[in-house]
Amino acid sequence: MRKIKQNTNQKAEHEIAQKSKQKAKMSRVIISVAMVLLITLNVISCSKTKQTDGGAESTASSDVGNPEGVPSDASDASTKGPTLETDDTSSQGTPPSNTSTGATEPPESPPETPRADLVPYDGIVEHLFFHEVIAYPQLAFDGDSGQQGYDEYMVTVGEYVKMLESIYSKGYILVNMNDVWSEHTTDSGARRMKKNTLMIPEGKKPLILSFDDISFYEYMSKDGFMEKLIIGPDGEIWDSGFDPSGNPVVTQEMTVVTVLDKFVKEHPDFSLDGVKGCIALTGYEGILGYRTQFDSKNDTPEARINRTQEIARVRPVIQKLKDTGWYFATHSYGHINLNKASLNGVKTDADRWLNEVGSLIGETTLFIYPFGSRLDGGDVNKTGPSFQYYVELGFRVFASVGIESYSKIKSDINAVICDRMHADGGTLRRERTRYMKFYDAIEVFDPMRPSVYGNKW
Ligand SMILES: [Zn+2]
Repeated sequence: MRKIKQNTNQKAEHEIAQKSKQKAKMSRVIISVAMVLLITLNVISCSKTKQTDGGAESTASSDVGNPEGVPSDASDASTKGPTLETDDTSSQGTPPSNTSTGATEPPESPPETPRADLVPYDGIVEHLFFHEVIAYPQLAFDGDSGQQGYDEYMVTVGEYVKMLESIYSKGYILVNMNDVWSEHTTDSGARRMKKNTLMIPEGKKPLILSFDDISFYEYMSKDGFMEKLIIGPDGEIWDSGFDPSGNPVVTQEMTVVTVLDKFVKEHPDFSLDGVKGCIALTGYEGILGYRTQFDSKNDTPEARINRTQEIARVRPVIQKLKDTGWYFATHSYGHINLNKASLNGVKTDADRWLNEVGSLIGETTLFIYPFGSRLDGGDVNKTGPSFQYYVELGFRVFASVGIESYSKIKSDINAVICDRMHADGGTLRRERTRYMKFYDAIEVFDPMRPSVYGNKW
């Protein structure tokens, strides 16, 4: 993507490499427990600190007047937390005439023949995200130190299936995040983002799905998750892992990817042109279950060969995903907290992601914040140097996490920021009403979840 910088700051890279290396080794070393905990916190709390943005999930529930989330431009902006301005409301509801004002952008949704069954849609585009699903709840909820995190930030595969069924039954149709906004040239000649008029089947409601940390981190395999996505003999994507007894499992029913693939196959009208979802990737333990990361602490000939092999193995998986409606975003290299990171730290991390992940998945303009934590201190009305750097790299959409599918087109820079709602145990337990537009927590809740954490219903 863009310019992939070869000359990254050696020192800083070394630091990150060191960190990453520690992580890679941790499962084999005595300090594994502490490190696993650390990473667990990192990963599964994608949604945790985001709450600093739009107001904490727990506290914000009381100050949002739009719990049912009925799409309405006014409610979209006005229900956000204090740092969020309302000046994006105009862009949420892009005037229909706007579609012709953009200079030479590619057209919106239907790139080829206009379809007679599609109608223009200018309302809110809902955005919901998941982490990888728990394939074996008995392992995730076994009472160890990871249990509470899994309960809070993940859903089980059983819940995921029920959620998809419910979302589908409510009339949503999956759309590509890349189609929701596009660049245009303003009257003053500046390049800015604008919201597109989507063309979707009448009566449908557009929905973006995104999936964070689809890396199959090492700590997760022991806790009831699959280990990687593979290409099966039939050329399709399959899940590979182990069952609770340690037997190898190859299935299409245990990851967010294959379950959604199957669901869309059975319900083609759940997807606009075959779109599935956005996969947000870090790089520190590779991607999609393949250890493609460069480990400067273990830069041996064997490690190099292994890395080369892993890269070769993941390439067809990436291609197949792209061919079947999946697309990618960065999630930072090291799952770093961007809110607090220095400009140098941000640059080093971004460059490393571009080198090790961007080089595999290709171009993307999408950035899904780790921890939902916005760049440069999180003030959506400011544009700090780190944000600027990412825009220079070509990123355009910056997605956090919040209590609703908020979005704001930046007026001072060529970017849009948005929030995603989070399908996880936390909202299942405590936000039933707010998520009722997608599913009823009572109906999807997995009885395998521990009873100790309690529900607000
Ligand atoms: Zn994450």
